[in-house]
Amino acid sequence: RRNAASRHAPETLLPGVKVVIAVASGKGGVGKSTTAVNLAVGLAQQGLKTGLLDADIYGPSLPRMLGRNARPEVVDGTILPIEAWGLKSMSIGYLVDENQAMIWRGPMVMGALTQFLGEVEWGELDVLVIDMPPGTGDAQLTLAQKLGPKLAAGGAVIVSTPQDIALLDARRGVAMFERMATPILGVVENMSYFCCPNCNHRTELFGHGGAKAEAEKMGVPFLTEIPLLADIRASSDDGTPIILSAPDSEAAQAYTRLAQVV
Ligand code: ADP
Repeated sequence: RRNAASRHAPETLLPGVKVVIAVASGKGGVGKSTTAVNLAVGLAQQGLKTGLLDADIYGPSLPRMLGRNARPEVVDGTILPIEAWGLKSMSIGYLVDENQAMIWRGPMVMGALTQFLGEVEWGELDVLVIDMPPGTGDAQLTLAQKLGPKLAAGGAVIVSTPQDIALLDARRGVAMFERMATPILGVVENMSYFCCPNCNHRTELFGHGGAKAEAEKMGVPFLTEIPLLADIRASSDDGTPIILSAPDSEAAQAYTRLAQVV
């Protein structure tokens, strides 16, 4: 068993994990967690051993989206991840009550993230998907620094809505990862358009195609567009990601394609 200091040293973190994929967004509420969850399940469906880490300490949504509220077991100082839909998952939400506000200061957040990397029994994984905190602050830098080589082997997926303001924030995210030498796997445009379930009329609520144009301008791949759908939200709230609850839907197929291209 490795001692505590070596468990937290960047070169010995996640020894059994081949690559890390960070799912990031410039701001909150754009569908980053929804994308991370469906992408992770899509990767697992391809037969890859997949983990999903919720690094969003202030707004953990994984327990609800995965439909799990179990408490992780701790064995010999190692935290066992929670199994859900073929994934090994970990979130601060498993450790604190859902309605308990996280009022931690920065160093405590870094401490929790470091523990999630060094003290969770991730075991052998082909890929660890990390649902990043929104923005480009300390937590993002800590993760990027600690996971350098594994992130370089995987990369970052940037989620944005088509709106200018969200795109502006996404640009900052791209710039941050590029500075940390993390490859940008590409941009996902979420809430791209809305199809009326009654008349099939398509409405582009937040504009459309903005993320694609921006990705081209930044010279990074455009990965997919995901519609705004009540079923996506309902599936997330019910704890069964849409890629599983409605596998034939347009959205599920888009997530499956996303998992194939990253
Ligand atoms: P973030 O991680 O960026 O804060 P979430 O993934 O938690 O965003 O999504 C915020 C809310 O929007 C959630 O209630 C989620 O179910 C909903 N949502 C995300 N993407 C879609 C979509 N394409 N269609 C409908 N609802 C969505």
